[in-house]
Parts: sequence; C-alpha cells; structure tokens
Amino acid sequence: MEKLNLAERDQAVIWHPYTQMKTASAPVPIVRGEGAYLIGENGEKYIDAVSSWWVNIHGHSHPYIAKKVSEQLNTLEHAIFAGFTHPAAIELAEGLLKILPRNQAKIFYSDNGSTAVEVALKMCFQYWSNKGEARTKVLAFKNSYHGDTFGAMAVSARSAFTAPFENLLFDVEYIDTPNAENIGSLKSHVAALSPQLSAFIYEPLIQGSGGMLMYEAAYLDELLSACKQNGIFTIADEVMTGFGRTGKLFASDYLKNQPDIVCLSKGLTGGTMALGVTSCTQHIFDAFLSDDRMKTLFHGHSFTANPVACAAALASLKLTLQPETMENIGRISTKHGQFALKIKGHPRLKEVRQTGTVIAFEWQTSGNTSYFSNLRDDLYHYFLSQGIILRPLGNIIYILPPYCISNEQLEYVYSKIEEALNITGKDQQSVLH
Ligand SMILES: *Cc1c(COP(=O)(O)O)cnc(C)c1O
Repeated sequence: MEKLNLAERDQAVIWHPYTQMKTASAPVPIVRGEGAYLIGENGEKYIDAVSSWWVNIHGHSHPYIAKKVSEQLNTLEHAIFAGFTHPAAIELAEGLLKILPRNQAKIFYSDNGSTAVEVALKMCFQYWSNKGEARTKVLAFKNSYHGDTFGAMAVSARSAFTAPFENLLFDVEYIDTPNAENIGSLKSHVAALSPQLSAFIYEPLIQGSGGMLMYEAAYLDELLSACKQNGIFTIADEVMTGFGRTGKLFASDYLKNQPDIVCLSKGLTGGTMALGVTSCTQHIFDAFLSDDRMKTLFHGHSFTANPVACAAALASLKLTLQPETMENIGRISTKHGQFALKIKGHPRLKEVRQTGTVIAFEWQTSGNTSYFSNLRDDLYHYFLSQGIILRPLGNIIYILPPYCISNEQLEYVYSKIEEALNITGKDQQSVLH
C-alpha cells in the first residue's frame, strides 16, 4: 500500500476551522517554525504575515519561551485552580496588573478569547443581578467580532458566521463606530437606552474580523464618557489589540477613559498556548462578595490558569517589556506608514488604513465584495505561492506580523502586494489562479 502524505492523512480524519471541507484545497503541512517563518514538510518557508491568526508576537518557537515552558512542564504541568493556586498564575496576574489600565484590580483566567469575553459578559450581567437590577442588554458596534461561543457570538455583529444561530442569540443594540459627525447622536442614543444597558463591549481602535476597520481614539473616548455617565460598564476586548499591536501596549492606552473590564488572549502567551484573561475593577469584584453564595461568579474551566500557559505568558510578557520589542513595533509601524504613502491612490485600492503594526488594503471590487468572493481565494493562493501567508478578509488584505519580522521580509511582502495590485484584468485571471 502506498504511504499517505500528511495532507491526505489530515483529510481522512480532520475537520478544520472556518473551512468549507468540500471545496477547500488540501491543508499545507507545517513541521517547524522559526522567527517570522513557518516551515513546510519539504523545507519550504512561508512568511507568517498574519501571525498565525494574530497570536504570535515574538516569532515562532522562540527559544526563551520554549525554555520557560519546558521548565514549567518539568515542575508542575497543571493543578486545580479552585481552592488552589500556583506561582505562575500569581506572578502573571501581578505582571499584567502592572501594565493594564491602572483601575484594573483582579485577574480571572480562562482558555481563549471567546471565553474571556463570556466571562466579561457574565461579570456584567451578574453584577446587575446581584444588585437586584434588571439590566440585560448589551451595546456593541456594527461589524464587531468577539468570538465564536454563544455569548461572544451574540455580542458580535450578525453576519454569515452567525446566521444559522440567529434565533438563539440574545438581543444586542448595535451602533456605528464613532466619528466627528455621529458622536453627538450616539451619546444621546446611549443615554436614552441606558436604563436597560448592562455593558458596552468594543474592540478598541481596530475591528479585526470586521475587516481591519479603524476608528479614532478621541471619539471612542467620548462614547466611553457617555457610558460612564450612564452607569454602563465598558468592556475593552483587547484580544487582538493587546500587547503592542496598535503601537502601544494596549489600545486602551490611547484613551483617557479606562475600561471597567479588559479581555486578553491571542498575544498573551506570545502565541504559544491557549490562555484567556478577563481583568476587572475592584468595584465589579466587590459586587460578588457576599454571605449569600448565590452571588458567587459560577464560572470556571478545567484548565483555568494552566501553569504551562501562564509560564508561556510570563516569558512572553518579559520579552514584550524589553526595549527591543517596542523598538520593533515602532520600526514596523514606520515601515507600514511609508508603504501606505507609496501605495495610496493606486487605482485598484479603495482604501489603505494603518494603526501601529496593522496595515490593511481594501481592494476595489465590482459586484461581489463579500467574504466569499473569488478575489479572496485568488489572492490567498497567489501569496501562498510566493511564500507568504496572508489571509484576506473578503477584499481586504492586511499585514499583522510578528514583531521580529525583518525589514527585508516586510519589503518582500510589500513588493508582492504591489505585484498583485499591478496584475490587471485578464492577467489577473491567469496569474492569480
Ligand atoms: C479572535 C478574537 C476573539 C476570539 O478569540 P478566540 O481565542 O479565537 O476564541 C475575541 N475578540 C477579538 C477582538 C478577537 O480578535
């Protein structure tokens, strides 16, 4: 019998995320990672220009993180986190509270971004329930994305991803992202709805899955002020924007108003392991203190505060706080800015936008501009054939790289984007396919 290759063995047994298994091309086996590269079976190198779904910040198989994870594995791999604790969880909570917005006082651990959001929502809903008030609605932005579990889906924009579950999702009030024109009416809208509103959840400055949509800190700040004035909790979903993505440690650092709750995951462990964090203020924490056991936050996962994940996060945090990392973030932001200036006004581009290390290119399209357009698949395969992993969101290509990516690697990615833009009409049909 002929030996099956990795892709064939995969296809026999695996169901992949966000993948139409009938039409998807065979998955690309990756056997090694090194810096900004993912390396295939036969040694082919791919520049991971999307940080493996936005999680990687210091590069793949980072030796310092590997060392710390390995030490932790040999010391304590896991321990129940109800009634018990361990040094890695404590040190990480202490370390995060040092850099999070100053009003943050307590760290609740879970497993990923979606669960970090679930915990944030439960904190807010139960806060009001513990106080005997019926505030059950959530305010969220149009085009928002907060995860794939039911609560996280409910507060995300309704889209093709949520359509099959639409009747099962709780009610959410959606508003536009704020700008100079609409901020006045948004504030009065929020005030009018406030008696029912428990919380406002938002992706600060960049709406990632919505298409790397960007909006200004100043108007978000005004909206947050309106929420505070009306007693609505603010939840900063920094799952993607955390740990330097936007040019500062947290996108919330661009704002005067501090959020009541922060959700973290993705870059938290440097992209090494699954871990989620929901931090909150003392005020929220205190509303759960009671002799009445019913006021307890009844939430926990088997692997809450897994020591190995916490060790990875501690190692990543240490790397993040080294001056070189902030220098790299600045370097990438500057390079992106220069390329944006160069490419702006290209007839094939509707818009170029950039915040920190994230740059997005929105392509002109005729007709079908959705997530499902052919342009998306064509571009994806074109870049892959050039040794670059870019996963367009519909007609939007974006670069969201690990901070260790070199200038040469960035320039190579830019040059291939330019090349793709300059392939025209009929050529596009043949070359991109
Ligand atoms: C990815 C993401 C999530 C969900 O995180 P998972 O770890 O994939 O569950 C939530 N919020 C934002 C802003 C995200 O980008």
